[in-house]
This record gives sequence, C-alpha cells and structure tokens, in this order.
Amino acid sequence: MNGTIKKVFEAVSAETGLRCDENVGALLGQYNGYHLYAIYTGNFYTVYASVRKNGQFPEKDLLKNMKKSIPGISALAVQKNNVVANVTGMTSKKVIENLISAIKGMTDAFRLNGFEDVCEGCGKPVSNIGSYYIGGGVSFLCGDCYTNISQSLQQAEVEMSNTNENFIGGIVGAFLGALIGLIAIIIIGQMGYVSVVSGIVMGVCTVKGYEFMAKKLSTKGIVVCCIFMVVMTYLAEKIDWTITISKEVGWSFAEVFQNFSALIDGAGVTSDFIGSLLLVYLFTALGAVPMIINVIKSKKVAYNSYQIN
Ligand SMILES: [Zn+2]
Repeated sequence: MNGTIKKVFEAVSAETGLRCDENVGALLGQYNGYHLYAIYTGNFYTVYASVRKNGQFPEKDLLKNMKKSIPGISALAVQKNNVVANVTGMTSKKVIENLISAIKGMTDAFRLNGFEDVCEGCGKPVSNIGSYYIGGGVSFLCGDCYTNISQSLQQAEVEMSNTNENFIGGIVGAFLGALIGLIAIIIIGQMGYVSVVSGIVMGVCTVKGYEFMAKKLSTKGIVVCCIFMVVMTYLAEKIDWTITISKEVGWSFAEVFQNFSALIDGAGVTSDFIGSLLLVYLFTALGAVPMIINVIKSKKVAYNSYQIN
C-alpha cells in the first residue's frame, strides 16, 4: 500500500472506525451495521457493500437517487454480489471527505430503504458474517459460504497445478497476438503517429495470446512472448516505413523492402528509423511489463483464502 493511500485510509478509519489492513490493501470493517470495504483501484477509490432486501439487490432507480443525493460518489452500481461506489477527488483531503460521505450516505440509504447486511455468497442476512481474503480480494461471507469457496479454490489450485502448459499452443497464441500488434503499429504509423497505444496493443495481445492458448504463463512463455514482441515490432516499423518510402519514391513495396537499409542509409534517415523503432519498443514494454507483472502477481494470490482477524 503506498503512502498516499495509507494516509487516506487512516484518515477515513479515524472518522468511521473501519480498519486499514495493509496486508490486504484495503479499508474494511463494519459501519452503521453494514460490512464495507474500500480499495484503491488505480484511478479511483471503490467502496463495496453487500446488501439485499428480501434477497434482492437495490434497483437502478434507488442507485440513481443515492448517487445524486450522496456527495462524493461518482458512480454507483451493482457488480456481482456487491453494491459498488466509485469515489474520486482532486486532492487527498477531498478524497477523504468524499469517502467518509460515501460510507455514511450509503449505509444511511440502505437502512432507510430496508436493506440488510448480507453474506456475499448466499445473500442471507445471517449473524456470522466474517471478513475473508479470497483470491486477492476481500469478501464478507457466512461460515458455510467461506468453507465452500475455500474448498473449491483448493480444488482449482490442484487442477491448475495438474494442467500442463500447452507450449505449442502458446507459441501460436503469442504469434497471433503479436500479429494484431503489428497491424496496429502499421495502421497507426500510416496515420502519421508513433503511439503508446500501438505498443500497448502489441504487449497486451502477445502476452494474453500466449496465456489464452497455453492455459498457463511460465517463464518459458514470457521468453517466447518477448522474442515475438521484439521481432514483430521491428517488422511492423520496417513495413510502416517501407509503405511510406514506396509511396514517395514510386517503387514497389517488395523493392523497397529488399533494399531497405541501403535506401534509408542513402536518404540519411537511418538514425530516425532507429529512433522511432526504440520509441515503439519503449511503448511495447509499457504495455507488456505491467501485464506480465499482473499475471505473476494474480497467480500468487489466486488460490489464497483466509479469515481477516
Ligand atoms: Zn453465505
């Protein structure tokens, strides 16, 4: 948890009594009789609550009214089994104010409209709702639901460790993903841009392509992805430049492609080509590195489950 988020959560904690848990990376607990937790999702803070009335989630009209009447909430919806509120603010001070307003406003509205604090799994307003860490996130569950979920996670972990990595499939997937990246670089390049978007497309599609087809992303897979990204990014830049040059000099694509280095050397633009190639490499890394880190991180916690205090 970074310093700013910790500061925000600690300030909200002092006001609401919710607890800042650094291991889980969340602010959580009970407020006004409702289990709540808040996390920072990269762009904004999100508050989660699990409530129902006669087994039903709050309807759209109620959510709309709540969003309108509670200051600080920028979006409010039902996601999976939770009511989820997005909270933003230009400064930490404003974020803290908005989070407190959201937590108080949401729980007041739940109470006013007869919604009960329920188990996220079965939706029942049981008394033994506890806070659990499930596969990288927080869940408020009854004892039975937790037992079921942790058992099926253990089962899934065993199945996953028994799944063999389909290496050949992965190579095909990485190739197809990199091909999409190559097309993106050429199209965007032909529009006259070197864009971070095309690099990210290359990085994300290659890694996702491998993972999807191989069913697993191992170190071997990461190496394959890197090779494809390096080769295909180079090829994309070369094709992009070839198209541009062939338009200018009136040669065919094949002629320019075959005499590429002599042509750019003769025109004195070799360093320009290398410069723009390096830029696309940088953008590809921007897309691929967080993606790979994410896969490794989520793999580590995907099957973890335990009770939080
Ligand atoms: Zn339950």
